Amino acid sequence: MAETSELIEFRRAFVWLLCGMLLPSVALVAFGVVAVANERAAVERRLAEEYDARLHVVSQDLLARLDRAADAVAAGREDRLIASLQPLENPPAELADAARRAASLPIGGHVFANAEIGNERRGYALVRSLFGGNEVTLLAQYDPLAVAGEVSKLAEARFPRERAAFRLAPPREPVPALAALRRIVAEAGQNATVVARAPLGPPLDGYTLAAELPGDPAAPLAFRNRTLYIALLVLLYVGIGAGFGLTLREMRRAYKLSRLKTDFVANISHELRTPLTSVRLFAETLREGRAEGPEEVQECVTLLSAEADRLSRMVEKLLDWSRLESGRGQLELERTDVPSLLDRIGEAYRAQQLPASYQTEIEPQLPAVDVDRDAMAQVVLNLLTNAVKYTGDDKRIRVRAKRSGRNVAIEVEDNGPGVRPHDRKRIFERFYRGDDLLSRRTEGTGLGLAIAKKIVEQHGGRIELDSRLGVGSIFRVILPAAA
Ligand code: ADP
Repeated sequence: MAETSELIEFRRAFVWLLCGMLLPSVALVAFGVVAVANERAAVERRLAEEYDARLHVVSQDLLARLDRAADAVAAGREDRLIASLQPLENPPAELADAARRAASLPIGGHVFANAEIGNERRGYALVRSLFGGNEVTLLAQYDPLAVAGEVSKLAEARFPRERAAFRLAPPREPVPALAALRRIVAEAGQNATVVARAPLGPPLDGYTLAAELPGDPAAPLAFRNRTLYIALLVLLYVGIGAGFGLTLREMRRAYKLSRLKTDFVANISHELRTPLTSVRLFAETLREGRAEGPEEVQECVTLLSAEADRLSRMVEKLLDWSRLESGRGQLELERTDVPSLLDRIGEAYRAQQLPASYQTEIEPQLPAVDVDRDAMAQVVLNLLTNAVKYTGDDKRIRVRAKRSGRNVAIEVEDNGPGVRPHDRKRIFERFYRGDDLLSRRTEGTGLGLAIAKKIVEQHGGRIELDSRLGVGSIFRVILPAAA
């Protein structure tokens, strides 16, 4: 039941995690995609703004130059920009208004006008002038080719180091079909691209000034920014993925631990109940006087005390663990000879009256170690009690002390069934118990090895396991030799 509700909790947390991470990331990606799509337009807009100002300056210069050409006509001089010159006698309808305005001007004045003649847009200056002693209006037609040439010169004079070409675009310049497609093609090719246009007034009504950059200037910028966005998006997703994976791993760990704890509580209650029942039973037998004779009474008392010992061992282990977990209980390190440490352990071992003898093999001249003697005795005792618990009737258990490089190794070897490969790491986790038949049948809390590992690590050492199935196990405590 508890397991199911934990699983539901786990799933709920997972769904929250999914919503909390995925929704914002989808929004971010959508934002990124829009930004990538609009990037080209943004670059083009920036370029257009930049070149609009320059086009304005060039168009002012051009207008001034056209004025000068008209002034030359008034003064009777020639100008390259004028293609033809004739007196305006019968102005066509389109020029009638301009002709009227020109007639009111003093000698030397001019107005600009445009007319559509024979499907061609022409630009004129109507110049007030003296011809044969009479005031007349002269119709000077601008030469579009010459004016176009003039535009380049003016632009060059104004912006000598400019990359862009400024040119005069005719009124009916064909608008390219599939302009977008052409732009994409231009990204690869060397075509020039118009980055800005400015419409012109009379006498170049309908014409535009265009600023052109070689190739496709927006392409490299847009490409760079797009690549940047995409790289950032990929990075974001990698980050989210890694965070997601890590969180998931932590959640799974927490879930497993909480399951282990639940198992532990069930397990420990069961383990405590068994000796308690025995204690109650023997106490009742004695109280009711059901024991027959002093021998039976003695037997009852012995069993009673053994069960009480078992109970206190379990409670001790629980207290040890809670002390270690809470960080209470400082180690008191003392320089200790390994043989004397093993003697001390031997005494404690014998006091427990376990069904296996205490045999040691100690390498001569081992360096001393800095240990908390009680804590280290507890470590080795935990390993020894496990060795006794998990071996059959023929118990061959050995404690060995030897050098291991610059460290000292204390080994506890048994001829038990060995630890299965998938359990070898996990048996050092708190509350973890092997799920083989032997472990299930044996009294335990799943804390002995976790306590041992923690204490050894607090000494700056480590604990290792060599185990062969059906042959036995060697638990090895490696401690740094005292300096
Ligand atoms: P407990 O013995 O109380 O279950 P431990 O932390 O001491 O807890 O041991 C964890 C598990 O490691 C045991 O449940 C058992 O499966 C396995 N184990 C420990 N020592 C041995 C050993 N000497 N031989 C085989 N298995 C062992």
